[in-house]
Amino acid sequence: MRGKLIVGNWKMHGGLAANAKLLAALAGGWRAMPDRAMAVCVPFPYLVQARDALSGSAVAWGAQDVSAHAAGAYTGEVAASMLADLGCRYALCGHSERRQHHGESDALVAAKANASLAAGVTPIVCVGETLADREAHRTEAVVLRQLSAVVEALGERLRDAVVAYEPVWAIGTGRTATPETAQEVHATLRESLRRSGAGGVRLLYGGSVKAANAAALMAMPDVDGALVGGASLDANEFLAIGLA
Ligand code: PEP
Repeated sequence: MRGKLIVGNWKMHGGLAANAKLLAALAGGWRAMPDRAMAVCVPFPYLVQARDALSGSAVAWGAQDVSAHAAGAYTGEVAASMLADLGCRYALCGHSERRQHHGESDALVAAKANASLAAGVTPIVCVGETLADREAHRTEAVVLRQLSAVVEALGERLRDAVVAYEPVWAIGTGRTATPETAQEVHATLRESLRRSGAGGVRLLYGGSVKAANAAALMAMPDVDGALVGGASLDANEFLAIGLA
């Protein structure tokens, strides 16, 4: 059985004092469960703070990006081996904000996922269509194209990755996909994963998830958890999503 995974994406928010409160509330408020796991993906400068604050708790932590390169003259980048050195569990790869603002291509996202897995850091590969794609009935084509780049790069190791479906029009907009819409896309992704021998990969939904809508989304058969942006900055809200 695929347990649920609830991952917070702090995006470019935080500061030492505010993080300390949030991390302490999560560490104290989340208990280990056999079928539910929680993690937070924090900005690079706060990885060590997250590691220390969450040590001994049931909350895992990760990064929001990772370099596709192993080492070398790549100023400003962070290698997967460096994340692994710290004990980092997850790395987001290809979040739509990186595809949109940093021009990350499908091939680059796949290379990042590959580098991450090679270092023992679980990539959370984000896919999702824009509003224009959806209105032009291109949702399936877009998410399958994004996924297939990763399938090609990872082969069988895809089984160790996590995939997040995040419709771009639902991220940070307060406009979430209905559970049925999310399920429809997740079922498409699941079928594609299955054909690649990775049907057991966890498929998270992301896009304006809140405590009020999380239970209905996660009740869908192919929704294995959530990637949560804004609502993950509020400990009570995020813990409630985790229990939804
Ligand atoms: C995200 O940042 O991945 C996200 C889903 O954001 P939000 O929950 O704020 O829409």
